[in-house]
Amino acid sequence: MDKLFYTEEHILFRDSLRDFVKAEITPHITKWEEEGKVDRGVLKKAGEMGFLGLEVDEKYGGMGLDFMYSAVLCEEIAQTGGSPGFSTVIASHSYLAMNYLVNAGSPFIKEKYLVPSVSGEKIGSLGMTEPFAGSDLRALRTTAKRDGDFYIIDGSKTFISNGYYGDYCVTACKTGEGISMIIIDLDSEGVSRSKLDKVGIRCSDTAELAFNNVKVPVENLIGEEGKGFYYMMESLQEERLTLAIANIGTMRYALDLTLQYISERKAFGKSINQFQVLRHKIAELETEWSAWKTFSDHTSYKLSQGEHVVKECSMLKLKTSDLLNKMVYDCLQMFGGYGFMEEYPIGRLHRDARVIPIYGGTSEIMKEIISKIVVDNKNYKPAYKKV
Ligand SMILES: Cc1cc2nc3c(=O)[nH]c(=O)nc-3n(C[C@H](O)[C@H](O)[C@H](O)COP(=O)(O)OP(=O)(O)OC[C@H]3O[C@@H](n4cnc5c(N)ncnc54)[C@H](O)[C@@H]3O)c2cc1C
Repeated sequence: MDKLFYTEEHILFRDSLRDFVKAEITPHITKWEEEGKVDRGVLKKAGEMGFLGLEVDEKYGGMGLDFMYSAVLCEEIAQTGGSPGFSTVIASHSYLAMNYLVNAGSPFIKEKYLVPSVSGEKIGSLGMTEPFAGSDLRALRTTAKRDGDFYIIDGSKTFISNGYYGDYCVTACKTGEGISMIIIDLDSEGVSRSKLDKVGIRCSDTAELAFNNVKVPVENLIGEEGKGFYYMMESLQEERLTLAIANIGTMRYALDLTLQYISERKAFGKSINQFQVLRHKIAELETEWSAWKTFSDHTSYKLSQGEHVVKECSMLKLKTSDLLNKMVYDCLQMFGGYGFMEEYPIGRLHRDARVIPIYGGTSEIMKEIISKIVVDNKNYKPAYKKV
């Protein structure tokens, strides 16, 4: 780890996390992929170890640490666990849903939802996407109408990670002219969920949610009414950075698996790692990985120092997603026919990587954001007044 960005404490944390992942996560990935869900017990254990609330204030049960610890967590889970599906479960809970509770949740919301989220007793999801509003979030149709001390919610969400087995959804709803973020308990009357069948990241559950006259107390409004769009834009920068960091970890895992395999596999009387064409491919991939790893660490460091890094987060999401797909394709090729067998994790990675340029904002949308900043000099300002 680069000592420019990480302290001795970050490195010690990485080591303890690595032991946890090796013992509690890696051995179970294949089973969870088959079952289409992650064992809740392991999420509870992660909560008990403090891994789900690294940056959360200690008064809400968190560890009160800086973002560099989250950077270590996202990279390490991806690298040692080797499962973009598992990484998605953790990121959707800790960095998609919980971000809103931390940054704009009232004391009531923090007690009711943040504390049990930190301990792993409640698992959260973030509901932005709808059947007719994905990239274009302003087009969303789910409504929350005020009725006394309640909101009445009608509409639907789709592709919601942790939406099937999770406990609550931080939901983007139309309230009058604006958008507001409202927490919906997923076992409330009027909520129905269906599990979607995906091509990859199968251990991460993804749901379609329907809300029919769902009654939610007004206390479940996050921050101010009508400010939801700005909260989403703000949270998306950290969400995209955590996704990019996970990409860096997954690529390291793919490269290490491949280096091991090509050192053992023989053809034409020698190890295949002696063929120049493969050696040069590895040299190219390793070079690209190192460049993006450094940019990722640098951006994490800037975010940890309170800088607003929308451009860098968008660039990282765009390019590490592309590189991950290229890398798993090239690495699988070096496994020959074995790479196409379920028995070898490289095949699963190839399948899982395909969603990465789509979720958390597509590559096309990343280019839109970057070009608005670079070409039009657009200035994305922070949305949160910290509560
Ligand atoms: C496995 C999975 C998990 C997900 N988890 C979540 C979650 O937890 N919460 C959540 O809210 N959402 C989640 N999503 C949804 C995801 O963020 C959206 O799928 C994504 O934002 C794209 O929206 P869409 O699918 O409606 O595609 P569309 O917006 O319909 O886009 C279709 C195509 O058009 C392109 N396009 C659209 N607008 C433009 C433009 N202005 N310029 C150029 N090209 C454009 C897109 O890039 C894409 O290629 C998840 C998706 C998947 C697949």
